[in-house]
Amino acid sequence: MSCIFCEMIEGEAPASVVYRDEDVFAALDIVQPNPHKVLVMPTRHVPDLYTLSEGEAAALFAVVPRIARGIRRASGCTGLNILQSNGRDAGQTVFHLHIHLFPRFRDDGVRFDWSGEMPERDVLDDMARDIARAMQADSS
Ligand SMILES: [Zn+2]
Repeated sequence: MSCIFCEMIEGEAPASVVYRDEDVFAALDIVQPNPHKVLVMPTRHVPDLYTLSEGEAAALFAVVPRIARGIRRASGCTGLNILQSNGRDAGQTVFHLHIHLFPRFRDDGVRFDWSGEMPERDVLDDMARDIARAMQADSS
């Protein structure tokens, strides 16, 4: 399988590496909407969050706070967003799971639009029940 992130991990494509261990790889994003934006990913080719094992998730997220502190110290950022996209409709363009560590600065002009409806409590409760029920059916 040809995957640009696997090639970076294998050293076959250029990468500005921030961190690596057996399970986790982190490098500067080639697109830098704000400086010091980093991508963190599992070293194994995992397409998305749905296919990430609990062990891989634990290894991946265990190192995220340390990288975030490194970004903060290096960039002087005053905020940081974590973004992780699954599927084309969520904006995923490279199908090797990755977490964006996105440093933020006061008045940096970056906007995420989280506006939306505020459903009644019974509607929220129904959605919560649906998800909880679906999780029980999940054997992975
Ligand atoms: Zn890959």
